[in-house]
Amino acid sequence: MKIKNIKLFKEKCYIDGNWIDSNDKKTIDVNNPSSLEIIGNVPKCGTDETKLAIEAANKALSDWKSKTAKERSTLLRYWFELIMLNQEDLAKIMTIEQGKPINESRGEIVYGASFIELYAEEAKRVYGETIPDPLPDRRIVVIKQPIGVVAAITPWNFPSSMIARKAGPALAVGCTIVIKPASQTPYSALALGVLAEEAGIPKGVINIVTGSAKEIGLELSTNPIVKKLSFTGSTEIGKILLAQSASTVKKVSMELGGHAPFIIFEDANIDNAINGILLSIFSASGQSCVAGSRLLIQDSIYDEVLQRVTKRVAEIRIGDPFDDDSQMGPLATRAQVENIESSVAKSIEMGGRLVCGGRRPPQFDNESLYYEPTIIECPDMSIEVAHKEMFGPVVSVLKFRDEQEAIEIANDTVYGLASGVFTTDIGRGIRMSQAIRAGIVWINTYRAVSPMAPFGGFKDSGHGRESGLEAVNDYTREKTVWINTSVEPIDDPFRMQ
Ligand code: NAP
Repeated sequence: MKIKNIKLFKEKCYIDGNWIDSNDKKTIDVNNPSSLEIIGNVPKCGTDETKLAIEAANKALSDWKSKTAKERSTLLRYWFELIMLNQEDLAKIMTIEQGKPINESRGEIVYGASFIELYAEEAKRVYGETIPDPLPDRRIVVIKQPIGVVAAITPWNFPSSMIARKAGPALAVGCTIVIKPASQTPYSALALGVLAEEAGIPKGVINIVTGSAKEIGLELSTNPIVKKLSFTGSTEIGKILLAQSASTVKKVSMELGGHAPFIIFEDANIDNAINGILLSIFSASGQSCVAGSRLLIQDSIYDEVLQRVTKRVAEIRIGDPFDDDSQMGPLATRAQVENIESSVAKSIEMGGRLVCGGRRPPQFDNESLYYEPTIIECPDMSIEVAHKEMFGPVVSVLKFRDEQEAIEIANDTVYGLASGVFTTDIGRGIRMSQAIRAGIVWINTYRAVSPMAPFGGFKDSGHGRESGLEAVNDYTREKTVWINTSVEPIDDPFRMQ
């Protein structure tokens, strides 16, 4: 990997404006999931370094929140511009540590930067409200104040944008932040730290700690200085962090797993639907929380659609993620490949029919982390791939008779993050959007995103909304101020109320 701005490839943690090693100098190796080579190592920090980072964020808080919104906005805007200027280098860093095709990495850098850009603007519009009081002499004013020190724990599948989606609103409203990136992809996070420093964001406002997930996570979720924890990752770890956060009654937001239904009705534009399926499940090698991993096809078009999807899947170009022509790279970790292999085998034993894929591609070394795009027909939701989040290039296919059955299958899951409906009947589209229990419904499109649109799940997919103007509320708390405007003396204390 050749990058122009070599300063971006940082192998130290960023605490209180200093780039540091862990106290005991221990490190964790980071590998390239495509070549399996070790590309470097980052500090393996734990409880003590996390405490330092939290204290640094706390020390920086008072100055940062006292800046005018315009001052914070200007710094964030500069950060955004530096990210965009370094887009190509940041994309290369992402691809080498994450394995996603370089074009997807370029897109993710722009997507992440769009959050910094949006919240740089919104910093100036953190409005409160005034509420009319029944008594003529009283005013009620509600103001929004930054919640304080924020902790962000992020996953490896979107290593840059998941950080930007949290840091953007947090910093804009006047919070300071401690970020713990995934151990598989720390370099994308550290590169954002380098650019934040260059943008002039003061020391301690952003802190990045790499290392032991358990120790760092425990400290971030139990330390009373941290007032808000924002987590993106698996439902399993989300539940642990929720329980730990209860001890200090922290505000939490949870962006967790998913197993989205992708529903095609007989009246759909089939060409568009098929393109939608490929995008929904096979981008990022299926390692996406919104992946349309359950394909629901109406019975009258079932055979035709399945046959056409299978043909298109066979044409997907798997290869070196640095090659502009590659459409699918490797999976990010060996554990991912092994989990998928075991679930696919189990699903076939349970009665699922392997339509295509289901193996490591023969053109790659058997030790590689590549896995073929895989389709499994499932008679019902009891088959493992139909009800378990795969987080890989595996789609389960189910048949439905009518709208009611499609809704039942779509909702028959503990998850509720995303969903897709392809139909040309506008009424049906609206009915489906109301009936599906998920935070996102895409109709005749999939994966459409905008920093202006709220993003988040129902059920075990989490709570809280990132992105959109609502996110500002996640990092502020409201204070209600009652003002008596009367100059009359109050003689009777019991009439003050
Ligand atoms: P994960 O295992 O939950 O890890 C996510 C983050 O949590 C990583 O930084 C990880 O650190 C850390 N972590 C692990 N154990 C921890 C602990 N005991 N305490 C505190 N932190 C801990 O998830 P993942 O495998 O990286 O990501 C895949 C999952 O994320 C999928 O379920 C996917 O659906 C979900 N996801 C959701 C969204 C969304 O917006 N809803 C977006 C992206 C991904 P280490 O890397 O050091 O282990």
